[in-house]
Amino acid sequence: MALAYDQLKTELSLCTGTRKAGQQCNGSVYVCGECGARGCKQNQGTCTEQAFDVLDRCLKCGAHTMQPVG
Ligand SMILES: [Zn+2]
Ligand SMILES: [Zn+2]
Repeated sequence: MALAYDQLKTELSLCTGTRKAGQQCNGSVYVCGECGARGCKQNQGTCTEQAFDVLDRCLKCGAHTMQPVG
């Protein structure tokens, strides 16, 4: 995804993405130790800003180096 999220890119540790049902996610945010992707952990396709699936795998690079943020 190449969306311009720069203005939303804060150090918040809660996910600001939107879930399918339309409410804010507020999930815990993790960062990938490999590619730096940042986002919550969900079933794939659940949240607009999720970065990891339920098996702790980075959706961007496939690494299992998820670390908590914040
Ligand atoms: Zn990654
Ligand atoms: Zn989320």
